[in-house]
Amino acid sequence: MTTPPLLETSNLTIRFGGVTAVNSVDFSLKETELRCLIGPNGAGKSTFFKLLTGQLRPSEGHVKLRGEDISGSLPHEIARRGVGIKTQVPNVFNAMTVEENLWIAARHKHTPAFASDLAEEILTQLRLTGIAKREVGQLAHGQRQWVEIGTVLAGEPELILLDEPAAGMTHEEVERTAELILEINRKRALIVVEHDMQFIKMIAKTVTVLHQGSVLIEEDVATVLQDPRVRDVYLGK
Ligand code: ADP
Ligand code: MG
Repeated sequence: MTTPPLLETSNLTIRFGGVTAVNSVDFSLKETELRCLIGPNGAGKSTFFKLLTGQLRPSEGHVKLRGEDISGSLPHEIARRGVGIKTQVPNVFNAMTVEENLWIAARHKHTPAFASDLAEEILTQLRLTGIAKREVGQLAHGQRQWVEIGTVLAGEPELILLDEPAAGMTHEEVERTAELILEINRKRALIVVEHDMQFIKMIAKTVTVLHQGSVLIEEDVATVLQDPRVRDVYLGK
């Protein structure tokens, strides 16, 4: 018997009125795989994530996690099954410290003492120990993004979805974000949506390109970046 992939979508489709935002997407991700998902604005990347996390229900098609159908499951059920997401909308408490934010996120699944240990471990892993006692609202943009990734890690997901984690970052912050993602990927699978091609080159192995809700091409990063169709969709032809 072959083991099913960690994540698999088949014919995944959602329509909003006349717009087919995600159009018959067949996607598959292996355990501890790191996949980049790119495509021009409006390609359907964030909507695809919302279908995976249960924030939206598909019009057609299925999402399977380890072979089990989770299409139509509620967001908290999907989170409990091991899918964590960092959205484009901030999801941290600004008036609390970095440490407190991680503790609260870890507390959903764990006892107070264990949550403290897990928060400590994440501070170390994300190299945030130096800012543990600072209020999140006072951090630089990049630091805040890392804290958000930390709160996702605190849920101990098997699969992490990151929607534009490097947006608005300086070059140094982008490089550090790439390192953190590679570090996280030693244990966990990730799908990373990002616009910054320099960043994609730092982390990518296989890249899936979405265009108008459909998969345009799915290949290794070098092949994708050389593909004339990819250049065309980014230039809006
Ligand atoms: P991306 O993240 O790739 O920039 P989105 O997934 O946000 O793209 O959007 C894909 C398409 O779906 C866009 O045309 C967008 O306007 C449309 N869309 C997304 N969410 C909704 C919604 N809730 N209602 C109507 N249209 C939507
Ligand atoms: Mg988006």
